[in-house]
Amino acid sequence: MLKRRAFPLLWCAAFATGAEAEPRYEVVDLHVDLPYQLGYRGKSLQQGTGQAGLGALSAGGVRGVVLPLFVPRDASPTGPRLVDLEESYLRVLRELQRGPELALPGCGEASGVRTWLAFEGAGPLADAPESLGAWVARGVRIVGLVHTEHNALATSSGDARPVRYGLTDAGKALVRRAHALGVAVDVSHASDRAVADVLAVARETSGLVVATHSNARALCDHPRNLTDEQVRGIAATGGVVGLNFHSPFVVRGRPAELADVVDQARHLVRVAGEDHVAIGADFEGGIRPARGLSDASRFPALARALSRGGLREAAIKKLLSENALRVLCRSGK
Ligand SMILES: [Zn+2]
Repeated sequence: MLKRRAFPLLWCAAFATGAEAEPRYEVVDLHVDLPYQLGYRGKSLQQGTGQAGLGALSAGGVRGVVLPLFVPRDASPTGPRLVDLEESYLRVLRELQRGPELALPGCGEASGVRTWLAFEGAGPLADAPESLGAWVARGVRIVGLVHTEHNALATSSGDARPVRYGLTDAGKALVRRAHALGVAVDVSHASDRAVADVLAVARETSGLVVATHSNARALCDHPRNLTDEQVRGIAATGGVVGLNFHSPFVVRGRPAELADVVDQARHLVRVAGEDHVAIGADFEGGIRPARGLSDASRFPALARALSRGGLREAAIKKLLSENALRVLCRSGK
C-alpha cells in the first residue's frame, strides 16, 4: 500500500523538477567552446559556465564534443600566434588527462565523453602548413580557417573591411594539406568569397568541407549563416552543417524559441539532405541560447521537438550524432 502511494509522488517530483529519464538519443556536438572558458574565462574544462558542464552533458546524452582551440584577438597584440595555440592545446590536454569523464581526443572506445580537437582560427599555421600533420596526430579533426577578423588564410564574415579575396595562397595550401591528411575544413565564420574558394579547392581534392556552427540564411539573414547554395555545396563534399543555438543566428528581431531551432533544422535537412546536418550548438561560446535550449541537458527536448516537427527517428539520430561521427571518425583515428 505504501509503495503504491509512493510511486505517483516520486513521478510528480520528477515531473515538477523537469528531470529527464535516460536520454533516448546520443549526441555529438561539433562545437563546444570549453577551451575558451578554460583559457580565458577562468572556468574549468569539466564545468565551463554550466552550459556544457559534465552534469549537463550527461543529462543531455552527449557522448562526444569537439573542443575548438581558439585564441581571442586581445590575447596577443599581433593576433593569435602558434605559441598561443600550443598553450591552448597543452591546457586542454592537461585537463583531459585528469579523466575519465572527458576522454583523450580520438575515435577509440571511451568510458567518458569522447573529445576531438579543432581550430577556430588557424591563422598561425599560415607560415607552416606542414605542421598540420602533427596537430592531426594530437587529435585535431576540423580546421576552422578564420574567426571574426580576416587573417593570413582567409577573409571573415565578421570583418567590416572590404573583401577583395576569399582564400589567400596560404589558405589554399592549408585546405589542400588538411584534405590530404583526411580532416575537414570548417567554413563557419568565413566570408562568402572564402566559402566559395574553399568549395572550389574541395572539388579538386575531394576533401570534406563542414560548417560546424552555422544556420540557414534563408530563415535568418545574418552573415554568419549560410545561403542554400553554400549548404548544398558543403553537402556535395560529404560534409555537414552544425545547427547553432545562438538566438541571433536562429531568427532575426526577437529571442529565438526551441521551435525556431526546429525550423532551422528542418530547412537544413530539406536543402542539404538528412546525411548532412549535425549539431554545433556553440555552448560555452558566450551565446544567448534559444529559449528551451539553455544548456546541453536540453538535447532530449530538442529530439522530441524534432520528432513532433516531422523528422523520422533515423533522421534525428543522424542529426544528433551519426553525421558528426562520420566526419570525425572516417579515418578511424
Ligand atoms: Zn564561432
